[in-house]
Order: sequence, then structure tokens, then C-alpha cells
Amino acid sequence: MIYLDNAATTKMSETSIKAMLPYMNEIYGNPSSLHSAGQTAAQALNDARERIAGCLGCSAREITFTSGGSEADNQAIISAAKLGERSGKKHIISTAFEHHAVLHTLKKLEKQGFEVTLLDVHENGIITADEVKAAIRPDTCLVTVMFANNEIGTVQPIAEIGAVCREKGVIFHTDAVQAAGHIAINTQEMNIDMLSLSAHKFHGPKGIGVLYARKGIPLSVLIEGGAQERGKRAGTENIPAIMGMAAALEEACRNAEENAKKVSAIRDRLIDGLSKIPHSVLNGDAENRLPGNVNFCFEGIEGESLLLLLDDKGICASSGSACTSGSLDPSHVLLAIGRPHEIAHGSLRLSVSEENTLDEAEYTIKAVSDVVELLRGISPVWRDLVTGKKEFVIK
Ligand SMILES: *Cc1c(COP(=O)(O)O)cnc(C)c1O
Repeated sequence: MIYLDNAATTKMSETSIKAMLPYMNEIYGNPSSLHSAGQTAAQALNDARERIAGCLGCSAREITFTSGGSEADNQAIISAAKLGERSGKKHIISTAFEHHAVLHTLKKLEKQGFEVTLLDVHENGIITADEVKAAIRPDTCLVTVMFANNEIGTVQPIAEIGAVCREKGVIFHTDAVQAAGHIAINTQEMNIDMLSLSAHKFHGPKGIGVLYARKGIPLSVLIEGGAQERGKRAGTENIPAIMGMAAALEEACRNAEENAKKVSAIRDRLIDGLSKIPHSVLNGDAENRLPGNVNFCFEGIEGESLLLLLDDKGICASSGSACTSGSLDPSHVLLAIGRPHEIAHGSLRLSVSEENTLDEAEYTIKAVSDVVELLRGISPVWRDLVTGKKEFVIK
């Protein structure tokens, strides 16, 4: 099997699995318990928090553990909104191509009387700090812009957006789920006030994530109960997963540069090979993208059929995001960068990890080229295009 869907989730690293095991069978106490078994677990929890803070350039007190990226996004946005509301600020700025964990939370806030400005994304999949600046109003309480897009991999000018928000005194949240462990993040240097990450996107376990919130930003509570996480997130801490996440993040950050070199070489080979397919287009900026992201549209192709035939050839890929696969709606991200519906339907995302090889890339290029040719051969849409009955959108 050739696994090229690392933006959906990753294989756990040995380091991460090893770090979890002792907290399942030896050090299994509840960190809230006063006895020694509990206190040993509490120490491990503190230690993990320190180490994760170290990777993000913040302090341990600014870290709250959540059930993953979605919960962290929800809590960050709701917290900033509630804080703004208290001083009559009910305007939020975001972008049209955020993850649904952000977009659906914003929709909910709109129903509660908040006004949301979704910035248009350029065809290259990048927004500028100037556009954010121009959208900020006296009643803006939050800017939330993702660090790197999960579908097209484009990396946003986060430090510049952070600087603009700091200057204007507006809280800046970034969904860094695709970036964490892959590209360098420093919350202080980048003026990030809140940040979400998720362990399973960097070879850690599923169901665990982090919400970083700068000191002084009070969090709203989404899950009521005990006083865990300084009263901001109830429920017995998932210590094994937290230990696995800390180990995975440290490992990923330590090796980020080396991994990026290896992974981007495979990415570039894939992009080069797939761009030879006639009437294909790369989605997202060619330079400013995650080391492992490849995303193409092929005219006259149905993404779902492409995926199934690739799966037959042993290749795990994605079309649109995992959450929208199975529905017939084209990706909101591809629509946001201006791809027409029929083109957005024919998309393919390959997301590379350091476990992939150049040989796998060669096999994949051949497989995708063959499958695209096969599907076009039986497509009535394609026939209309080649006979000139319809005009090509992708030249
Ligand atoms: C995967 C992902 C999420 C959701 O994270 P979960 O831990 O799966 O809830 C949020 N945002 C982005 C950009 C993602 O890629």
C-alpha cells in the first residue's frame, strides 16, 4: 500500500507509541488523585505541558489539552467571541477556505448576532496581511486565519497577520493543525494569541490536541465538570495520548527541517510528473505550500472515480477533504480559489510523509496518468471537450 493521505491522518511514530505505553499499564493514576500514583501522573502531565510549550515558544500555563483540532478551534473562537461581546465587539474576520471546525463555529456565532467577514482567497490560495488590516473595524473582536490549508497546502503570512492584529489590538487565532510539527511555529515571534493543533497530523495519537491561549485571554468552558485544565476543560486527562503527543511533537519539530527536505523532493517530483497530464492544473501556490502537499484538478474527471481506481492500484489518496468525501458537494476550498464546480469535482490531493519514497512517487505518477486517461476515455464530458462541443476550462 502506498499511503499518500497524510493530511487526513498519519501513522503513529514508534517514539510516540513508546511514550504512551507506560501510562497505560504502569503509571495509570488519575492526576487529580492525591496519592502517589495520581501524583506521578500529574508530574508527567506537567512535564508534557512544558515540553509542548517549548515547541511553540509559549509558557506551559498557556496550554490547554483538548480532544483534538476541532475542539481547540471551537473553544478558541467561542472564547474570543464571548470576550468581544462583553465590550460590544461582535465582528469576526476569517477566510472562505478555513476548516469546517472554524467555518461551522462561525456560522453558529452568526446566528447569535455576530457579524462574520470571510475574506476572499486569491487563486494562489493565499491571503495578505493588508487584506486583513483593511477588514479590521473598531468592533472586530477576532481574526482567525489558518496557518496552512489542509487541502491545497498553502501557507499563509501568519507573522505578518499577527503583527497587524497586535497593532490593532485584535485577538489573532490560527488553526495550525496542518502546520504544527511540519513548519516552524513560534507564538511569540509571530504574535499569535491563540493556536490549535492536533497530534494525529504529526504522527501522534488521534483524539488529542492543544489549544494555546496567550496569558490574559480567558477561555470559555465548552465541557463542564471537574476542575481539570485549570477549570477550562473538564474531564480526566487523557495522559497516554498527551504523552504520545508531546513525544511526537518534539520529534517532529526536531526533525522538521530534515523531513521537509525529503518530503518536498517527493512532492516536487509528483507535481512535475502530474503536470505533464494534459488539461491539469496545480491548486495552490507553487512555492508557498506545505512540504508534503500536492493538489491537482484534472478536467473531465470525477474525483471519486479517480480515488477508487487509485485505491485498486494500492494508492490511498484524497479528493477534497476527508470530511466532505462521500458528499457530492465540491470542495469549498477549491471553490474559494475560483475553480468552477465541474473542475473542482475533478481534484486529487496527495499528501506525502517522510515514510514515502521517490519510487512510490514514480509509481503514483504512472498510476494517476493511466487512470485519468482511462476515465476520460469513457467520459461523455471529455468527448464533448475534444470534439469542440464544449470549451476546455483548463488549457
Ligand atoms: C484535521 C484538521 C482539523 C481537525 O482536527 P481533529 O483533531 O481531527 O479534530 C482542523 N483543522 C485542520 C486544518 C485540519 O487539517
